Parts: sequence; structure tokens; C-alpha cells
Amino acid sequence: MSDLGWTCLVTGANRGLGFEFVKQCVAATQKSGGRAHYVCCCRTPDTATQLHKLIEETSNDKITFSVLKLDVTSKLDRQNVVKFCEVKLRESGLNLLVNNAGIMPHYCSEGLETVEGAELHRTYNNNFIGPTLLTQGLIKLIKLAATKNPHKTKILSISSKSGSVGHKRFMIGGAYDYRCSKVAINRTARNLAAQYGAEGVIALPICPGWAATDMGNRGHLKAEVPVVESIEGVREAIRKATQDTNGLFVDHLGEYPPW
Ligand code: NDP
Repeated sequence: MSDLGWTCLVTGANRGLGFEFVKQCVAATQKSGGRAHYVCCCRTPDTATQLHKLIEETSNDKITFSVLKLDVTSKLDRQNVVKFCEVKLRESGLNLLVNNAGIMPHYCSEGLETVEGAELHRTYNNNFIGPTLLTQGLIKLIKLAATKNPHKTKILSISSKSGSVGHKRFMIGGAYDYRCSKVAINRTARNLAAQYGAEGVIALPICPGWAATDMGNRGHLKAEVPVVESIEGVREAIRKATQDTNGLFVDHLGEYPPW
């Protein structure tokens, strides 16, 4: 490990599951007494109040942060983030990439009649194309980390069981844009596992459960899983992931739902 220690980049780190992920990882670093560097990416860093508060309260000589502007759909933003990381993480590489940022423009009851091309493009850009191209930009740094820590270097794609083609609960229709975008990002993760597994990189498409964030609570029904519990499960699934489970779709309970 370099002076930075363990390195982690999270997209959409300002609120919801992304923020909770950073918060729990920082607490774990504090507990272990280890070193870590967090690259926290947000669309509007200036308004990321709770993230800045966390940083103020927890940064020290061992736990350090970079806060970067990243709209995952912006090529320029992605390039800037990659350039920054190529300098900052040149020795350590990137141990964990968390492709978390995502949107769900339509609630699940939307049918085919309401599908609009522009919305399909927007959701694919946010949930699939942006994260895939960000991963492409960072893959050299991820592979570098894997040479030092094989099988402990991971790429996480926050997916959703609601995109599952085989899950009984989701035989219902609707949300064409969101569900199909999650199918696509699942396949990216599977491809990454196939392409980079031999080099020690583990890729995980993971469902965080129906979690009580702004997104999770936007419908008329209340979300089932508290945010803390969701991320505890996600982190445990990351910890347990090995070459044997590389690329498998997993959920926050550690179960393997159908694709
Ligand atoms: P929230 O809506 O609470 O938060 C979404 C986060 O993503 C925000 O930080 C938001 O930034 C960011 N974001 C959205 N679009 C972009 C973009 N183009 N570029 C950069 N950042 C962006 O959602 P959750 O925290 O619940 O969701 C996180 C992930 O988990 C998503 O991928 C979602 O699909 C997935 N998921 C969530 C479930 C749930 O029940 N909550 C269930 C299954 C999957 P900003 O503040 O600027 O809007």
C-alpha cells in the first residue's frame, strides 16, 4: 500500500446510499486504525453539506479525502476525475470503485405507452453508459491496485433486483428505462469479471434492497430496508466476494437472486 493506504472512489457520495457507504467505511477505517483515502464524487460538491461535515469530523493524517465534481453523464467530468486519480492514486492504484450514482425517473407502474426515447437515453446514460465509461477510464488504476492486492480489488455496481429477468417478485412490468438500465449494468459487471478476473479484479453487481433513501421512498409504499442495514449488507457482500463468486449478482442479504 502507498502512503494513502486503502483507496476508494464512490459516485453520488453526497446523499443516500453513496453517502452512507462512505460514512460506514470511514468508521471502519477509524476502528481499524488503518490508512485510507476516499475520493468522493458528487454532481455539486458545493451543496454536499453532510459529506463536508463528515470530512471535517473524521479527516486526519490517516484518513484523507478528495471531493470531486462528477456528473457521470459528462465526458468532461469523467475525464477530469480520471486525470485527478491518475496523479493522486499513481502509486496506490484504486482498491474499490463504487458505481453508485443512479436515477429512477419513473415509478414502477409506468407502462409501454409512456416510454419516451429521450428518457430511455437519459436513464441509460446515468445508470449504465456513464458508470461503464468511468470504469473504463479508471481500469488501469484498478489493475494496478490488483497487482498489489489480488482478489481484494473490487468494482461495485449498485444494481437492482427490480431489473431481474428471472425473479418472481419482479415478473410485474413497468419502469422500462430504470429496469433495463440495471440489466445492462449487471452485464457490464459480468463482463468485467470475465475480462479482469485473472488479473485479480473482482466485479460485483449488487442490489442494496429496497432502501429508505429519497429514491426508495418516492412511491406510495414505504421502503423495506433502513439505509444503515442496506449498506452494512452491501459491505459484507463486498468483503465476502472471492474469485469463485466474481461477477455474480448478489444482494444486501448475501443471497444470489436470479439475473
Ligand atoms: P438517491 O436518489 O437517494 O441518491 C442518488 C445519488 O446519485 C445522489 O447522490 C445523486 O446526486 C446521484 N446522482 C444521480 N444522477 C447522477 C449523475 N448523473 N451523476 C452523478 N451523480 C448522480 O438514490 P439511492 O441512494 O437510493 O440510490 C443509489 C443507487 O442505488 C442507485 O444506483 C439506485 O438505482 C440503486 N438502488 C437503490 C434502491 C433503493 O431502494 N433506494 C434499490 C435498488 C437500487 P444528486 O444529489 O446531485 O442528485
